[in-house]
Amino acid sequence: PEKSMVDLFEESAKRVPNTDAVRYFEERISYRELDDLASRFARVLADRGVEKGDRLAVYTQNNPQFLVATYGAWKRGAAVVPLNPMFKAREVDYHLNDSGAKVLVCLESLYGSVAREVVPATAVEHVFTTSELDFLPEGYERPNLAASRRTGPGEGAEDLLEAIRSSPEPDGSEKVDTGPEDTALIVYTSGTTGRPKGAVSLHRNVAYNAETYRTWTSLDDEDSVLGVAPLFHITGLVGHVAVAGLAGIPLVLYHRPDPQETLRLIELWQPTFTVGAITVFLSLMNAPGARYDALASMTKVYSGGAPIAPSITEQFERKFDVYIHNIYGLTESNSPTHAVPLDARAPVDGNSGALSVGVPVPGCEARLVSLEDPSEPVPVGESGEFAAKGPMIFSHYWEKPEATEAAFHDGFFLTGDVAVMDEQGYFYIVDRKKDMINVSGYKVWPREVEDTLYTHPAVREAAVIGVPDSYRGETVKAFVALKEGSVATEDDIIAHCKENLAAYKYPRSVEFLDEVPKTATGKFLRRELRTGARG
Ligand code: ATP
Repeated sequence: PEKSMVDLFEESAKRVPNTDAVRYFEERISYRELDDLASRFARVLADRGVEKGDRLAVYTQNNPQFLVATYGAWKRGAAVVPLNPMFKAREVDYHLNDSGAKVLVCLESLYGSVAREVVPATAVEHVFTTSELDFLPEGYERPNLAASRRTGPGEGAEDLLEAIRSSPEPDGSEKVDTGPEDTALIVYTSGTTGRPKGAVSLHRNVAYNAETYRTWTSLDDEDSVLGVAPLFHITGLVGHVAVAGLAGIPLVLYHRPDPQETLRLIELWQPTFTVGAITVFLSLMNAPGARYDALASMTKVYSGGAPIAPSITEQFERKFDVYIHNIYGLTESNSPTHAVPLDARAPVDGNSGALSVGVPVPGCEARLVSLEDPSEPVPVGESGEFAAKGPMIFSHYWEKPEATEAAFHDGFFLTGDVAVMDEQGYFYIVDRKKDMINVSGYKVWPREVEDTLYTHPAVREAAVIGVPDSYRGETVKAFVALKEGSVATEDDIIAHCKENLAAYKYPRSVEFLDEVPKTATGKFLRRELRTGARG
């Protein structure tokens, strides 16, 4: 679609004003209402001096406010920078400063506990806070619904819904012309070197893969989306928010995917489509009391972000009579570049045992190239780095031209994943070139954990790898050499990391070495550590 996500969303709001845009627990918000809230928020932003091209960071769990903030920002021509609600102060500080966000929309509880101390040292001029109880009836309680009590916006912040309510009527002047070439999202991914990088995605990139989801899974007005992926992640942004907004169908939301809550809301709302990390589906499979027909409405189920063991799709199908389709993508590709067709089953690679991620989605040019030289193509049946080109590929890394330069070769984005293609054109991810650790679909880059380890006064050398974990796929393990005469226990080191890193990033085990093995040039031999950890 040669249109911005704002225009596509507004078209949906005109076409199906009375359809639910969001179903948040038992509550419903129609397209007309959501469009109106977003316009009012754009009005608020206009009054606060927010201009086209400014950045607005969103730091919340999954809730309707995320959509109000996102569509409001887009109407105003601002780019949305989603932040993981698990981030600690150091992480929030980095992302706000790097993106230069002018506005922060933040959960009240996270503002008080994390963001408030950070904001003064950033370019943020306006903070809007919101409670998880907004949009829910008085006294509403669910297990895991963190903030059961309102605390008010707190110093330096305004209440989001209050600001919206007291703003002048939107009259259209709050809306800035936003086209396909304008920036929609800056989503952060880390890297082997340096600090996390903001992947800048244009409206046309996001809209393209929202359309991919719609056509690939044949979504029509009878369908609805179950939001199991976090909205701050590209899967949630494109596979939930953008696809629902483009198709004009409901998005079922709850703040985080607890299996019993998921089952309850599936029974209530009968959603048909979802895409999420395999751990969500594993948790459903192991949920006590889950009935055989519990997922009967879910005819279009996709799992992406991490490998799936072939035996899991079989067990899941035996348990629920629902087939999980594999889908592959990255933040930089606005999610899918490959997916298993809705009416197909993923084959398994004879050599590696990997379940296929499917075939390239329409418009994706997929190439496998030599790991040593990206200008060398590899033949069918042999493994190479997967490189992708197409309208879904992001524009560039925010203010990191060298990183952008290094990420592309001959117009193709180099994914860092090692893949094989078979004679039928099915792709298999068989290895990773990058050192990334995949914890339940959450990506951890050794470098960031190592940097944190080095801030511990007793640490002389630190190297981090992923070790296999039956539920999470991988978890983080650290190898540490201590300074002469210093003492620290495994618990000390873990506690230090836990304080400074989001929960999925801190090491679950630490092994002490006299020295971390290195190459002649002083690079840690992660591969050697990995082999040691397995054996
Ligand atoms: P997705 O949109 O598919 O969930 P993502 O949002 O997790 O991807 P990133 O966080 O950037 O995007 O992580 C992308 C990385 O995740 C890929 O480079 C690859 O290593 C891994 N990955 C994604 N999907 C799959 C899959 N189906 N099988 C194996 N690995 C995958």
